[in-house]
Amino acid sequence: MARFVFITGGVVSSLGKGLASAALGALLQARGYTVRLRKLDPYLNVDPGTMSPFEHGEVFVTDDGAETDLDLGHYERFTGVPARQSDSISSGRIYMNVLEKERRGDYLGKTIQVIPHVTNEIKDFISIGEDEVDFMLCEIGGTVGDIEGLPFFEAIRQFSQDKPRGQCLFMHLTLLPFITASGELKTKPTQHSVKELRSIGLQPDILVCRSEHAIPTKEREKLALFCNVRPESVIAAPDLASIYEAPLAYHHEGLDRAVLDAFQIAPAPRPNLTRWNDVADRIANPEGEVKVAIVGKYTQLEDAYKSIAEALTHGGLANRVKVKIEWVDAEIFDSEDPKIHLQGFHAILVPGGFGERGTAGKIRAAEFARENKVPYLGICLGMQMAVIEAARNVAGLPDAGSEEFDHEAGQKRYEPVVYHLKEWVQGNKKVNRRPEDDKGGTMRLGAYDAVLTEGSRVAKVYGTHGIDERHRHRYEVDVSYRSALEAAGLVFSGMSPDGRLPEIIEWPDHPWFIGVQFHPELKSKPFDPHPLFRDFVRAAKDISRLV
Ligand code: GLN
Repeated sequence: MARFVFITGGVVSSLGKGLASAALGALLQARGYTVRLRKLDPYLNVDPGTMSPFEHGEVFVTDDGAETDLDLGHYERFTGVPARQSDSISSGRIYMNVLEKERRGDYLGKTIQVIPHVTNEIKDFISIGEDEVDFMLCEIGGTVGDIEGLPFFEAIRQFSQDKPRGQCLFMHLTLLPFITASGELKTKPTQHSVKELRSIGLQPDILVCRSEHAIPTKEREKLALFCNVRPESVIAAPDLASIYEAPLAYHHEGLDRAVLDAFQIAPAPRPNLTRWNDVADRIANPEGEVKVAIVGKYTQLEDAYKSIAEALTHGGLANRVKVKIEWVDAEIFDSEDPKIHLQGFHAILVPGGFGERGTAGKIRAAEFARENKVPYLGICLGMQMAVIEAARNVAGLPDAGSEEFDHEAGQKRYEPVVYHLKEWVQGNKKVNRRPEDDKGGTMRLGAYDAVLTEGSRVAKVYGTHGIDERHRHRYEVDVSYRSALEAAGLVFSGMSPDGRLPEIIEWPDHPWFIGVQFHPELKSKPFDPHPLFRDFVRAAKDISRLV
């Protein structure tokens, strides 16, 4: 049976709870344990799939097709454990499940209440697969005191009571603000936050305190005394230059030791931190720098492209270069020449996106990259735009477009090179969608296989001919344009196993130009960079040496 670590937050949001959870997962793995990380989000959306990237950052997609919180991306990047549908839940989903059961009559006419019906639903979720791992790490989104969070806090309180003593541990993340005028770290907000937690029956075992400065002994002792934790369980979480330093930094601060002590695991297995030492060494000692432009739409909020930024960093680690990312708003190319903004970059990446805004600019970015032989990686919408660019400017189809935009603009494209996919095969069953279907969860989502063309660049990059990658899209390049586009020189180098859905395109006479219908960034890890990002950054590095 797993031991459970519940991670909560206080004082302010955005303290890096997800990162702390992920780093703890990595440290427990380093000591030989198996782990699974889980996120419980108090908001009422059923999942983040329909939330704007500006609201919630990127939507992270799992192999089994769940649209989840971006923290699951951190979990995977730090532990390498593929997240599942059952690792992410929101209040919305919990209530939906409860109400569906109520409608079915499962509660036998009882009055439905937050306690016990909602809390039981949460507890059932927490315990899914509890026999599979040594440690289950459950992060509660938001901060203590949030109204929506209450059922979750109550559920984890009950859960720890239901389990044998010593099976559950509570870790609370807070902020120690530094008051410059007096030169002091203040502990009072943390004391209040813990008081709030204790008022709902939760006593933290470990306090993780974010601060700009080291915690002096006096403050550490004060926190321990007032918050009722051991001084060695007050863990400082200083700001770091790279998130990938977090496992070593937390280890240095004694987090994993404090967790094992709290579970009374003695003697504690020795950690093997080779993986993280190697990553830290690569981060600290780059041999050069490459500049990559991300031409996107949600460029004001970097979290909207979190996994892409991380995967580029991983590609840099593999090549021992620092990747400097610059965000370019695609709409700028509506009025300005891409050359002004894209010259000087060693590579261009056009990420995924939805809707028409910014697409004209993305097409111009693809054109610039093709003509000027700048390495280009197009992801999902970025591939679709590269195909439209090829159709219009090389294959002699000036009316090529996508049904996604024609639908919005109320026009009809003569050549819908990218069309609304309504039927496809998943495993051995057929999936059907209608345009009027709900927006939530109706895309082609999750892992699908692709077959790579012998001798193509991607086959070399992957070193294999069969891959599976994660998808999240409604539209698809129409295979009936394949021959026209291939006659113009564009190669369809990856296809769905039934040969109907184009998965990858490339320009063979270009130093590096690849578009993929899927999201390779979701599977990249610092200790195992994704082959496409590794090779894309290598191509950028080659260019950087030429100029
Ligand atoms: N909007 C496009 C589609 O739905 C691309 C989606 C994406 O980039 N994730 O097909």
